[in-house]
Amino acid sequence: MTDSIVVTEGLTKRYGAQTAVDAVRMRVGAGEIYGFLGPNGAGKTTTLRMLVGLIRPSAGRATVLGRPPGDPAALRRIGVLIEGPGFYPYLSGADNLRVLADYRGLGGAAVAEALDRVGLTARAGDRFRTYSLGMKQRLGVGAALLGRPDLLILDEPTNGLDPAGMAEMRELIVALAADGHTVVLSSHLLGEVQEICDRVGVISGGRLLTESTVAELRGAATILLRADPLE
Ligand code: ATP
Repeated sequence: MTDSIVVTEGLTKRYGAQTAVDAVRMRVGAGEIYGFLGPNGAGKTTTLRMLVGLIRPSAGRATVLGRPPGDPAALRRIGVLIEGPGFYPYLSGADNLRVLADYRGLGGAAVAEALDRVGLTARAGDRFRTYSLGMKQRLGVGAALLGRPDLLILDEPTNGLDPAGMAEMRELIVALAADGHTVVLSSHLLGEVQEICDRVGVISGGRLLTESTVAELRGAATILLRADPLE
């Protein structure tokens, strides 16, 4: 594998007696689209939140872009879409990104570039509340793209979207990887990770069951689907 962008060893998160993430060992190589595949409650969001330092692991460790999670130097190089993006409904898409760009000391060019990249230039002046769910989600990716991050971490980016919105988002993710962004995304859709990911980590009950290329996963998926339907 090429350079590792994300490396974890024994990464664990406990909430009281419950182990949400159980000793996860994963590797993401530079330039990959890595899919974190698992059903609801598997531990995907919890793992991604640990990678960006939103929550602390109970045990184990992670290195992201060569730094510990939450390290400011690494965070500047990571674009994140985890929680709902929290945009202002009565501001335009462009103004919402400007607020975020100003906060990070980035100029208008960064906003224009991000809007263009996610296909929202024509609707940039319209209020966020008038956007479709797919557009809202793409604006979230646009926000994550501000500052041209090396790594994008996207939690269920197609969740709740209609088929057209899903297809647009998947195309966008593939294009972003082609632009040079490493992407880590989570999904509960087997077909989705097979379509767009290079490698997949299958998580269930907090445990990483397997990590493989998509081609290898195709064989394993048949077995997995019998035991635990993922769609
Ligand atoms: P989903 O697709 O539903 O978001 P997920 O794979 O992202 O699922 P997580 O959100 O990581 O799953 O949750 C893993 C487990 O940890 C779940 O059982 C969840 O209830 C539990 N959990 C997550 N966050 C907390 C918390 N703050 N306090 C207690 N339990 C939590």
